[in-house]
Amino acid sequence: MTARVAIVGGGVTGLAAAYALRKAVPSRDRLAIMLLEAGPDLGGSLGTERADGFLIERGADSFLTTKPQGVALAREVGLGDQLLGMARRGVYGVRRGVLQPFPEGLMMMATPRLGPLARTRLLSARGKLRAAMDLVLPARKDAGDESLASFVRRRLGREVLDRLAEPMVASIHAGDAERLSVNSLLPQFVAHERDHGSVIRGLRKSAPAPRPTDPSLPRPFATFRGGMGSLAGALVERTPAVEHRLQTVATRLETTADDTFQIIDRGGGALAADAVLLTPPAFASADLLEGVAPALATALRAVPYASSAVVSLAFPEDACRRLDGTGFLVPRSEGLHLKACTWASAKFEGRAPPGHVLLRAFYGGTGEAAVLDRSDEDLVALALEELRPLMQIRGPAELTRVHRWPRAHPQYEVGHKARVAAIEAANAAVPGVFLAGSAYRGIGIPDCIEDAARAVERTLQLLQPQAVVAGALA
Ligand SMILES: Cc1cc2nc3c(=O)[nH]c(=O)nc-3n(C[C@H](O)[C@H](O)[C@H](O)COP(=O)(O)OP(=O)(O)OC[C@H]3O[C@@H](n4cnc5c(N)ncnc54)[C@H](O)[C@@H]3O)c2cc1C
Repeated sequence: MTARVAIVGGGVTGLAAAYALRKAVPSRDRLAIMLLEAGPDLGGSLGTERADGFLIERGADSFLTTKPQGVALAREVGLGDQLLGMARRGVYGVRRGVLQPFPEGLMMMATPRLGPLARTRLLSARGKLRAAMDLVLPARKDAGDESLASFVRRRLGREVLDRLAEPMVASIHAGDAERLSVNSLLPQFVAHERDHGSVIRGLRKSAPAPRPTDPSLPRPFATFRGGMGSLAGALVERTPAVEHRLQTVATRLETTADDTFQIIDRGGGALAADAVLLTPPAFASADLLEGVAPALATALRAVPYASSAVVSLAFPEDACRRLDGTGFLVPRSEGLHLKACTWASAKFEGRAPPGHVLLRAFYGGTGEAAVLDRSDEDLVALALEELRPLMQIRGPAELTRVHRWPRAHPQYEVGHKARVAAIEAANAAVPGVFLAGSAYRGIGIPDCIEDAARAVERTLQLLQPQAVVAGALA
């Protein structure tokens, strides 16, 4: 008998899950794997476009190498020699319309030594003094969750929140620091306060950031010479005998009398499966599950999402300021819609032909949804208008692209861990359905790969009693 697993969603989580399943059970006679993807191609938030010698990332541009799962999977699928480290270091912030370097060695909100904080032009003298008070202020006793903004304000003051921490968080999560959970996103800083009474002292005393398993690896971020789309391509290539159904929107899950599942798609097609691995955004998985597991659907809908747009713009090299870093982050208080700008061609080699530069401007996020109602043309015009003074841009862009990411950024808001616990509890009542992806235990690419592996292990445990996949977990 052939066991059947249906994976819904062909982003990195779904593709990594298919790869791990096939690796565990190589025989298609023992395990049939079907992957349903709503879009016209695979990769989800990973996608690379080439035009006029430029390499343009539609979504993610790199991944952390200090978490081992991304590099390990890349090597397994034959991309080890394609790994590419950052060509430059250094991020800028903005103060009163001028780019200023971020303090050297900044870890989200603080540095272990006071020197770089004392020297930065992003903070006023008063802001610096207030940040140093972290060393003497009493630690909070209550272990409950708290917003990231409240945590940073309490420990390091408003200016550090406004100029350093909030822009960083907004750019990574497309989120609002007043709503995001410090326990979910920065638990190590909560631990610093708890264990050392101060964030700065905790940074000094804690072990250095984990190094990649292989010291020759780029750190802390890497991409691929051919762009992040390479990972999706290699995963598909190296996962034989998986049936990929593109442009297939799964709309409803049904259970059958023999405890198996039918996935109904928008076109009315039905797919039978013994186990179902759901990797779409939580709200889309909720829609699918509404009929068979309403409590789980309700729990899933409690994870909020934000939308964003990435505007890529190319210029002749001599038409803008020298790109001596990887980009800059914009505090809300600067009054711009622009959240951040990555200097893509400075950050990684091979993103622009010689003599040209490629920039990526980020728009949207929680509280900034309205800007995304603008047409592509208007978004490009806005990006040009906002970038021009900051980057001393002269002349028009020679290439533009707008990539939109509607409801693509899960928000780990205060209480996120409790929401995930509620999802897991409700999921336990629906055997055969497994959830994985960026909504739950980490939004980074390595986190998604890890979550896929975790869901695959559970799927194999369920199927283990069926002789067909026996031994897969050995
Ligand atoms: C603009 C942007 C930039 C980012 N930058 C980085 C970065 O630099 N580094 C990093 O580590 N992370 C980054 N992230 C986060 C990271 O890319 C994502 O968390 C990760 O790729 C999510 O993968 P996933 O497979 O869980 O979800 P997705 O990539 O969202 O894939 C889910 C898939 O499910 C499909 N789907 C949805 N509903 C259905 C349905 N009903 N039926 C069938 N298919 C369905 C979707 O079409 C999609 O392809 C970024 C994210 C975005 C949006």
